[in-house]
Amino acid sequence: MPLSFAVPTELSYSSDADIAAVHAAPGFGTYFTDHMVVVDWTRDQSWHDARVQPYGPFLVDPASAVLHYAQEIFEGLKAYRHADGSVWLFRPEKNAERFARSARRLALPELPVDDFVASIETLVRIDERWVPTGAEQSLYLRPFMIANENFLGVRPAEKVLYSLIASPVGSYFKGGVTPVDIWISTDYTRAAPGGTGAAKCGGNYAASLLPQQQAYEQGCSQVLFLDGREQKWIEELGGMNMFVVTREGRLVTPELTGSILEGVTRDSILEVGSELGLQPEERRLSLAELTEGVQSGGITEVFACGTAAVLTPINSFRSTSGELRVPGAPGHYTMEIRQQLLDIQSGRREDTHGWMRRVL
Ligand SMILES: *Cc1c(COP(=O)(O)O)cnc(C)c1O
Repeated sequence: MPLSFAVPTELSYSSDADIAAVHAAPGFGTYFTDHMVVVDWTRDQSWHDARVQPYGPFLVDPASAVLHYAQEIFEGLKAYRHADGSVWLFRPEKNAERFARSARRLALPELPVDDFVASIETLVRIDERWVPTGAEQSLYLRPFMIANENFLGVRPAEKVLYSLIASPVGSYFKGGVTPVDIWISTDYTRAAPGGTGAAKCGGNYAASLLPQQQAYEQGCSQVLFLDGREQKWIEELGGMNMFVVTREGRLVTPELTGSILEGVTRDSILEVGSELGLQPEERRLSLAELTEGVQSGGITEVFACGTAAVLTPINSFRSTSGELRVPGAPGHYTMEIRQQLLDIQSGRREDTHGWMRRVL
């Protein structure tokens, strides 16, 4: 049975002026809408008590399992306002399916795809006024699931909470797309074979924070991780997948080995890129190949991708062994693919893939 979400009879709303002030400078993940979705799960009752409630803190017991053993997963997607006022999601069922896969890996219960999408549609409809209208603005949606049992034994929780919050976000690049510098971590890896790299879980992010801090210290904005077995193959950034474009027109991204997160943006770029005449290739890409290719000009563009920033051109890589500059960033295909994705999401370009799902 699909979940039905109880909505309070008295909804409380921020004033138009308050929302306008947030939309004028939303930042990223700083301001939240008036409401949130909460659904409980217990072993006996499965998913139940689906509800919308005013946005606000949870009461968490100090013994709550999530605080100790990090049994937690999350998702990230956006709602976009089109010029005619309608509101749309981009491939939300992809996030729903990935959420279910992440749940399985973290021994959490799966939330059915339809319930996941329904929770998003419910919240977006109720907090519709928070979906911004500005260029490259959207409402970022953050579904998450946590162990919610007060028990210090180590086993999967028998009480779990699913929740969804929403935050208006602006363009990732203020004042135009700026290519970024990337730190290649040779001290740390993000994910190991058989580990949780393919799951979107908080633990992966916790593990990436120290190398991320090193990246900042080196004047870089992001960190690139190599594979955990040989320290040879390019995997991904802390929260973004990576692509290269070659002089021969190949669009190469590391294949999904089990330690790489399967990005929805990554998947969409493989399709858009091939429509632009590039040859998509999912295969292993070594740091040696990247270095040699950038130096010889065989690799002409490098970019990172993910829901938050869509496409981020890469300007250079730094590591303990020196600096590698990618000449000409941002490259032609980087900007073209980026623009096409943004145009599909914002309704300026026909959605020939059936990726957009109308909410309002
Ligand atoms: C979320 C995420 C991505 C990007 O996925 P999208 O679905 O494109 O947003 C890439 N890598 C990691 C580690 C992530 O957590």
